[in-house]
Amino acid sequence: MQVSPSVRAVQVPDESPMRPQSTNIYLVGRNQVLTIDSGEALDRYRWMLRGYLAATEKAEIAIAAVTHHHADHSGNLKWTREIFDAEIAIPANGRALLKGRLPAKGVRKLNDGQLIELDGNVPLRVVASPGHSVDSICYYLEDEGVLFTGDTLLGSTTTTIGDLAAYRASLQRLVDLPNLKVICPGHGPLVHDPRKRLQSYIDHRNTREAQILDALKEGSPRTSWEIMLSIYPEIDSRLRRAADGNVRTHLAQLEAEGRVLVSPGRPRRTNARSRIREEARQRERERVIKRARRLEVAARRAEVRAQENPPTEQWIEAPRYELS
Ligand SMILES: [Zn+2]
Repeated sequence: MQVSPSVRAVQVPDESPMRPQSTNIYLVGRNQVLTIDSGEALDRYRWMLRGYLAATEKAEIAIAAVTHHHADHSGNLKWTREIFDAEIAIPANGRALLKGRLPAKGVRKLNDGQLIELDGNVPLRVVASPGHSVDSICYYLEDEGVLFTGDTLLGSTTTTIGDLAAYRASLQRLVDLPNLKVICPGHGPLVHDPRKRLQSYIDHRNTREAQILDALKEGSPRTSWEIMLSIYPEIDSRLRRAADGNVRTHLAQLEAEGRVLVSPGRPRRTNARSRIREEARQRERERVIKRARRLEVAARRAEVRAQENPPTEQWIEAPRYELS
């Protein structure tokens, strides 16, 4: 799919039909093609990439860049090097995190603000955007207003956040980029109202933080769970733990900034004997579930086999017909 004059998107559908997401690979430039992310180390990504290149590009990959170290973005770096002899471009602080997934030679480290010049005057800028992971970076093609965000901003879902303070600062940097027209995320559809989307995430986080501070104004110290319940009184109970995690991410930032005080909790310690007993119970449950699954499959197969053969369970000798 053509995104802008120099950019094409290869959106590889997700395995599960329940998740209408894709893992995306982008191609930038014409003669000297640069890829941004290259999927998981699975055949379907490799075939998509090779098929797309063979069918529409008639070019090979010169540089394979990644937005961060996670395996669904960086799984094919070695392979890309082997097949295309491509140069591998990674975030400067991602090297240790990418251990085992990099080729021995041809790896270039990218720093914030660095410019990658491709053939045909296509300048691609590196924008550091830590938060989802420490080594997250975006790539910005300012001339065409195209921003590649990896997992820093996704097409249709919210991302997971490791460091909230860093993440919020990153969103602010991105919303300030000049000439921004479209976001090419690591998963899901393109974002055609990039500023609005980035601003809504910034606003959302600000609101959440204000709500937490408000909840803490009401007297005695509270646990993250109590805060969560006061902020999201109507929440679907199955989402409570996720919401609590969200609140704790904010509390960690507030604590780091010295805006809240924390009294250490008291973790529950389980003694060795009860742990061993619980593990044995868990193994037994798993054994029963496995056996049930096997029986279920066998039953289904037997049903299919029955359809393929005459009903011998009803007849020793089936009736025979002839013309009268
Ligand atoms: Zn990721």
